[in-house]
Amino acid sequence: MSLFNELGLSQAIVNALTDLGYEKPTPIQQQSIPQILTSQNDVKAFAQTGTGKTAAFSLPIIERVDPQSKNTQAIILSPTRELAIQIGKNIEEFSKYMKNINVVTVYGGASIEDQIRGLKRGAQIVVGTPGRTVDLIKRKQLKLKDIKWVVLDEADEMLNMGFKDDLDQILEVTPKEKQTLLFSATFPREVDAIAKNYMNKPVEINAGKKNVGADKVSHEYYLVSEKNRYPALKRLADVNPDIYGIVFCRTRRETKNVAANLIEDGYNADALHGDLSQAQRDIVMEKFRAKHLQILVATDVAARGLDVDDLTHVINYKLPDQAESYTHRSGRTGRAGKEGISIALINNREKNALRPIEKKIGKKFIQKQIPNGKEICEKQLFKLIDKIKDVEVNEEQISPYLESIYAQLKDIDHDELIRRFVSIEFNQFLSYYEGADDLNGDDSRERKRSSDENFTRFYINLGKMDGLNPAKLMGLINEYLKKRDVEIGQIEILKSFSFFEIDKSFADKVLKEFEHAEFAGRSVIVEVTTKPKGRSRGRKKGGFGGNRRSSDDRKSRSNRSGDRKFGRDRSSSSGGYKGDKKKRSYSSSKRR
Ligand code: AMP
Repeated sequence: MSLFNELGLSQAIVNALTDLGYEKPTPIQQQSIPQILTSQNDVKAFAQTGTGKTAAFSLPIIERVDPQSKNTQAIILSPTRELAIQIGKNIEEFSKYMKNINVVTVYGGASIEDQIRGLKRGAQIVVGTPGRTVDLIKRKQLKLKDIKWVVLDEADEMLNMGFKDDLDQILEVTPKEKQTLLFSATFPREVDAIAKNYMNKPVEINAGKKNVGADKVSHEYYLVSEKNRYPALKRLADVNPDIYGIVFCRTRRETKNVAANLIEDGYNADALHGDLSQAQRDIVMEKFRAKHLQILVATDVAARGLDVDDLTHVINYKLPDQAESYTHRSGRTGRAGKEGISIALINNREKNALRPIEKKIGKKFIQKQIPNGKEICEKQLFKLIDKIKDVEVNEEQISPYLESIYAQLKDIDHDELIRRFVSIEFNQFLSYYEGADDLNGDDSRERKRSSDENFTRFYINLGKMDGLNPAKLMGLINEYLKKRDVEIGQIEILKSFSFFEIDKSFADKVLKEFEHAEFAGRSVIVEVTTKPKGRSRGRKKGGFGGNRRSSDDRKSRSNRSGDRKFGRDRSSSSGGYKGDKKKRSYSSSKRR
């Protein structure tokens, strides 16, 4: 069985899929679509990003909803607003030849009134982030009596982000007879618990571990010292003049810094993170999709909704805490059958983090060497030659000058002329990278310095014995602070107590909100502590912004001048580059 109509979809949908260029169903679609079309059983599907899972759950729902009724019949939950918007758009595209099928997308950070108006007009399918969906249910604007499907898309991410309570509420208040469809890239205990509590003998679908084309992704790592992390990133961009990739950072602050540095150093880059407004994010994503940007520096969460198929590189500026997140990141390259490269920049201490990732992806990382100046110059030189070969000559504009140009150059022969033209730029490359340091290897053995001054460290009287884990602690913090965007730093869960760090501007709020807090029936005590940090890293992605920028990052920033992009030489003592403060003029990485 290979074609969409053979899976039981109507011609109107198949035509829409043809318009989108979907020729044949992906494995997850082949398995899910007939299953959901023909049976009421719940479905638990193992599906990574890029597998075509959106169509796998949306198409049978679109096929089965009752267009005669305007009542909401399906709720699709997604971890981020970007992903929700993407799913909503996909559903509109899939159903464009069907009459009276409406979808409304609901998410925080946008006018709830507009969304309520949308619901009032009638939408058989509602796509939403969990928080806003709960809000609309509580306001009785999202009516539940006709709900027949609840989809949990990227269930693992939703739980990672602390939406467990919201999911519990939604699953509890929706009608019992519904069909629950759970899609997740991983099945940690928390996801299985949701399946166990709310699903009835689910049919399991596993369309293979890899996302479409993920076999074509090679995984590479570069060993660098902290201070060379940023310079190494720049060299990787320089040696790949056609790079079109995402650089993943762990925190918003780190994302902003890396992007600001790249922009300042003349790269065609921008940042995508949770501190941007929806409109700002849309603009950045649009620019990136249109390839007006070559490098997007992003947090995991912000990049979730970005649907781009032909990334050349994914660069893990810092590895994520969880191996699953790495698979999400690397799954963004090597899509649609193309080759892709996923790079990890790591220091000595981070080497251990590679093993669990290798286990998860079923592949080994290959160690690569940060290119030296000569290699970069060669790459850039041939890029220049390609550009010369491909450049379009505007005859009309240039012809008035040609006569006098020919006259001036008449005594220089052909070979010499080529040498001179090429040298104009190549000399800059050469002088730029002359004497460039070898950035390979982390022999610095630097250890973390003092606690980040941007965070306050708290003691909490709960530990492993109380069933506390980082995810639960983050959930607790979010619950009591009633905010999802507070930056959480290190978390250390010990046997009977724990430590956590919070953006210091929220320190008073933490103390106040936790005054009468309870956890599993126990009174919670939270106090500011100055206890020095233990060795255990226990750093968790905050879910709502993740870790703070480490002092190492700051060092990297201050060292930024240590390996400038062409034409923007460093003046620091660590280098060997001289003078010339001007910005690089020809921008190997510029597309525009
Ligand atoms: P998803 O996993 O739903 O995010 O889909 C990943 C990408 O694959 C999206 O760009 C989809 O538009 C595309 N896609 C999904 N199904 C198919 C298909 N059957 N044929 C071609 N492209 C598809």
